[in-house]
Amino acid sequence: MDKGGPTPTRNRKFACGFKNTRFVNPLSLSLSLYTQHVYTSPCPLSPLSGRQTAAQHHRLSLSPPPPPPSRLPLRPPNPDRRRRHRLKILALDAAQPFDYETRISDRLHKSTKLKIAVIGFGNFGQFLAKTLIRQGHTVLAHSRSDYSDDAANLGATFFSNADDLCEEHPEVILLCTSIISTEKVLRSLPLQRLKRSTLFVDVLSVKEFPKSLFMQILPVDFDILCTHPMFGPESGKNGWNGLTFVYDKARIGDEESRVLRCQRFLDVFAKEGCRMVEMSCAEHDRYAAGSQFITHTMGRVLEKLRLESTPVNTKGYETLLNLVENTASDSFDLYYGLFMYNKNAMEQLERLDLAFESLKKELFGHLHDVLRKQLFGKAEGLEILEERPVLSKLPPNGAALPPPSDSVGAQNN
Ligand code: NAP
Repeated sequence: MDKGGPTPTRNRKFACGFKNTRFVNPLSLSLSLYTQHVYTSPCPLSPLSGRQTAAQHHRLSLSPPPPPPSRLPLRPPNPDRRRRHRLKILALDAAQPFDYETRISDRLHKSTKLKIAVIGFGNFGQFLAKTLIRQGHTVLAHSRSDYSDDAANLGATFFSNADDLCEEHPEVILLCTSIISTEKVLRSLPLQRLKRSTLFVDVLSVKEFPKSLFMQILPVDFDILCTHPMFGPESGKNGWNGLTFVYDKARIGDEESRVLRCQRFLDVFAKEGCRMVEMSCAEHDRYAAGSQFITHTMGRVLEKLRLESTPVNTKGYETLLNLVENTASDSFDLYYGLFMYNKNAMEQLERLDLAFESLKKELFGHLHDVLRKQLFGKAEGLEILEERPVLSKLPPNGAALPPPSDSVGAQNN
């Protein structure tokens, strides 16, 4: 730091108010006055205690030190005036950008907020963007369709050109495209324009597929976080508290900054009260096929029945109506993606088929027994009832289905 020697020309404007002083370095003057008069007692506006040294202060303060007041009275030392000097300098310094609280909170804000690019600004992309923006993150958006107005309304910036977006150097790329278009979109991104260690996150409802895609396509310096918020615009419309968020840190570099960046992203969901579940992508897909895919399938089957509200709705029936509402508003692409890109989905569809057949046969078999009893008498009817094979038990979820010859359908032919 300049110790007070001749000041370069660019600093002269600061020295112009000092009579009897040629080329006073205003920065060093300010610092020395500040050191003399302020550090000896705690400053009420500063987070520093009076016991902290100037060196500590300097380390904590944001350089460069503030410019001096435009007119500092430089007169021969006069004990009577000293008290006034001290007060004046304190007051002036407080008015200068020595406002530590603001600056430190500003620094803290910058260190916890992320610049996030949402790729795929459709239904779910916009739903997530609302919360990201509310939490103070900067959101850039890009999509196949033009969502400039929607983005502006939410407080995001829309880029119709992916090159322009990548040149903004977002810290996180959040992929919210449909499952079936993900590969095409990912391959079309100008990755070379991004910062070398960008964090890629996806929110696809299947997990093994995007993980292996990211591992294949993204340069090794990029971090990868695979996530699935297990809720949507409908189920999460009243907040995310208690809703499940699954994630797999597929590849996060060891550097502290990269670990922190990933944590900050996860904090978005933790702060909203989500139930954070860390599990492998493979495990997710196994569970999700048996729960989410079945849920969506039942919702779509019921939708085809065109169920309507009645004056005598039971609670159970209302649950079905809600299920239709929750699932039918999602795009068919999403449902198709759940089927196509989760290797466990086909088996679940077969199980559903078998379960339905089994239930029908159980009903019809029962009816058949009753009719035969009426036709041929009590004794024969009882015998037949005992002979009727057990139809209802499918192996539990996750266990292999019986081979076709052994299947429930075959038992009853
Ligand atoms: P979606 O139909 O699965 O995806 C729509 C998005 O994909 C839109 O941004 C759309 O862009 C983009 N897209 C579709 N086809 C494209 C193509 N050929 N080229 C480029 N972009 C294409 O509906 P979504 O509900 O918004 O879901 C988005 C993602 O979030 C999916 O991966 C889904 O699995 C996941 N997710 C959804 C929910 C949910 O409840 N909805 C919950 C959790 C996770 P344009 O709009 O610009 O055409």
